[in-house]
Amino acid sequence: MALLPGLTFLLGLVIGLLGFRFGNDLRKGRHVDKLRSNYFRGLNYLLNEQPDKAIEVFLQIAEVDRHTVETHLALGSLFRRRGESDRAIRLHQNLIARPNLTAEQRALALLELGEDYMRAGLLDRAELLFTDLLQLDGYVQPALRQLLAISQQEQDWRRAIDHARRLQQVSGENHASLIAHFLAELAGVARQSGDLPAAELWVQEAIASDPQAVRPRLLAGQLAMARGDWPAALRAFDEALDRQIDVVPEVLPNLIECLQQLGQADRLGERLQAITRRYAGISPVLALSTEIEREQGLAAATQFLSEHLRKHPSVRGLATLVELQIRQDAAAAAPFLSLRGLLNELIQTQSVYRCGHCGFAARTRHWQCPSCKRWESIKLVHGVMGD
Ligand SMILES: [Zn+2]
Repeated sequence: MALLPGLTFLLGLVIGLLGFRFGNDLRKGRHVDKLRSNYFRGLNYLLNEQPDKAIEVFLQIAEVDRHTVETHLALGSLFRRRGESDRAIRLHQNLIARPNLTAEQRALALLELGEDYMRAGLLDRAELLFTDLLQLDGYVQPALRQLLAISQQEQDWRRAIDHARRLQQVSGENHASLIAHFLAELAGVARQSGDLPAAELWVQEAIASDPQAVRPRLLAGQLAMARGDWPAALRAFDEALDRQIDVVPEVLPNLIECLQQLGQADRLGERLQAITRRYAGISPVLALSTEIEREQGLAAATQFLSEHLRKHPSVRGLATLVELQIRQDAAAAAPFLSLRGLLNELIQTQSVYRCGHCGFAARTRHWQCPSCKRWESIKLVHGVMGD
């Protein structure tokens, strides 16, 4: 039977330790013989896929041999990775209670215990522990990284911003784009609670944090629409498109409303044509076909769309074309009705957004992947089934 990946890892660890221990201690006589015999007993359990018994033996060794603290740490991390958080917590707590640890061993055990707490969902305890670790030189960065992860999990965006800023200072890394997302989250919360002036301040801070970020520009546009400032809204949406053309599907309905409110609906066609030159998806083409229908009639729109689809096939485009066909000739519509049903069903089930990291599929944009928790890893899918 093939060994579990965790066992393979542990075997490697034990074999490494055997080499290290007995290479150093060959002249120490009976103590080494006993230790060696215990190691081989543990190794034997591992080979027989009895990890629990093996772990028991290694724990006994750890009791009598100070040098096996590293074995303890590795075993605890193995427990955690196997999903045995309680066991990992007990092991690390026992380790920390030992009086003979060096400062470094103690700090490493605390870091591990914090990760156990996180895995077990005990975020409060993990947070306290990592906050204590911030006081120890040399552990500020790992502690800050964990605190940053915890505050994101708790959606405590103000604290996340503090941790990210401090991490920037101590590591020299650039987290401006991450901080802009946290600020945008705060803006979203304020907007939902109806506090639009506060939302506006968060958005401006997000823009200042990362001037190239697209999300704060979209929010700025939506807030400007809410207060009826149509020129500012239009400017913000243009800035969003300049930064990331893939937000076209989100921007289009807002852009159309802004132009209508400004009495510039006649400029929509020209704007849509400019967008289709920069963006390969079907959304602006469909908006353009609506515009052509309004100006030149159904036949012209049908001709425009079918010509486009010949070069750029798209399920959503086809569904609209079928719709135009049905409206154009109601008498001959019967064969198209079931086709329309099928296409709409297909569209309802397709995900046009996908995470480039973990493959999570979604029908709407998520700035943070709900599955792998990465920011801006979810992208719009193009092509026949996408936008
Ligand atoms: Zn993901």
